Amino acid sequence: EQLANQIAAGEVVERPASVVKELVENAVDAGSTTIDVSIEEGGLTLMKVTDNGGGISREDMETAFLRHATSKIATSSDLFRIASLGFRGEALSSIAAVSRLECVSADSDTGLARRLRIEGGVITADEPVNAPIGTSMSVSDLFYNTPARLKYMKSIPTELGHISDYMNRIALAHPGIAITLEHNGNVLLRTTGTGDRLQVIAAVYGRNTAKAMLKTEASDSDYTLTGYVSKPELTRANRNGITAIVNGRYIRSHSINGALLQAYHTLLPINRYPLAVLEIGMHPSLLDVNVHPSKMEVRFSKEVELRALLEKAVKEALHAQRY
Ligand code: ADP
Ligand code: MG
Repeated sequence: EQLANQIAAGEVVERPASVVKELVENAVDAGSTTIDVSIEEGGLTLMKVTDNGGGISREDMETAFLRHATSKIATSSDLFRIASLGFRGEALSSIAAVSRLECVSADSDTGLARRLRIEGGVITADEPVNAPIGTSMSVSDLFYNTPARLKYMKSIPTELGHISDYMNRIALAHPGIAITLEHNGNVLLRTTGTGDRLQVIAAVYGRNTAKAMLKTEASDSDYTLTGYVSKPELTRANRNGITAIVNGRYIRSHSINGALLQAYHTLLPINRYPLAVLEIGMHPSLLDVNVHPSKMEVRFSKEVELRALLEKAVKEALHAQRY
């Protein structure tokens, strides 16, 4: 079982940013309105995620760290209408297998808190404590027991870059959650959770960028689209400025990128790209997120229609400003 967890860990936990991603997504799934992330040394020594969500009950805490323990899917048909970010139930067990993890959680039903410590997949401490409702997960010494993996970690700035990029995207995806990211005690990102996405764009990219964004909106019987796209004057050297959020999940999609770029056709200089934050909502049955363990890739069942809607919406936003 411990070996199976270490193998699964290889798929789920590639680097510190993957840990942050899984912990933060769990915090989002728990209905949190504030999520604080605190990192030391690019995440190689410590990553701590504290949320004010529903928490984990004392009875459920141990199970939460078992492989394929998920409270989010009850039947295999649920797999075809996934609404939560997590669903595989392998993140916590994988992370716990390759780090020293401490979980303190108090659930909103009982208010009772418990502290569980797991080192390399083995429980080393387990006790009732006092804590506010919500969950705090500290992961230290990632890959301390898998030296081969540790060797592949890049520099602190590189690992921090991946974490920071992910945190920016999740903040853009959830303007209603107050999110902070601290590294070695310095605040790198702070959002207020007012629900105003343009404010998050300002927090991530700066005020001037936020001022150069155009609102775009559209919907048909299957999709709702809302977001912001940049005026053609504001361009970037690559596609990294495109954030696509599908049913609350930040994803990468050639399809969405393609439709977006098509809308800017002739408006952008060669090899320049727009900045965009696009949120697309659909019934979960139109979406397959179970493509890869990282859940970054998705498949749309009505892809052509989605592309058409997106391209039309962005063109309209640009035309309205006489572009
Ligand atoms: P998944 O998210 O795929 O269900 P995980 O391994 O990430 O699997 O988490 C296992 C379970 O632990 C979750 O289903 C959830 O019940 C619980 N859990 C994890 N993190 C939190 C959190 N921050 N708040 C509340 N419950 C949590
Ligand atoms: Mg999860």
